[in-house]
Amino acid sequence: MLPPVRCFTCGKPIGGKIFQEFQRRVQRGEDPKKVMDELKVKRYCCRTVLLSTVVLVDDIAPYHSFNFP
Ligand SMILES: [Zn+2]
Repeated sequence: MLPPVRCFTCGKPIGGKIFQEFQRRVQRGEDPKKVMDELKVKRYCCRTVLLSTVVLVDDIAPYHSFNFP
């Protein structure tokens, strides 16, 4: 739902610059493999997190109740 702060397996910080850069470049149509290689994301655990994360927080936020009884 939210972008991951760290890799779930090895703990490498990928939440800030790396995740945003990856999302932006892949949405422009670049090859994900090439982007991850250039961002120096080498381990397959970190690459799995980048490839499999679906950010849904903006879709769910309008339905969230902050006045939960
Ligand atoms: Zn990792």
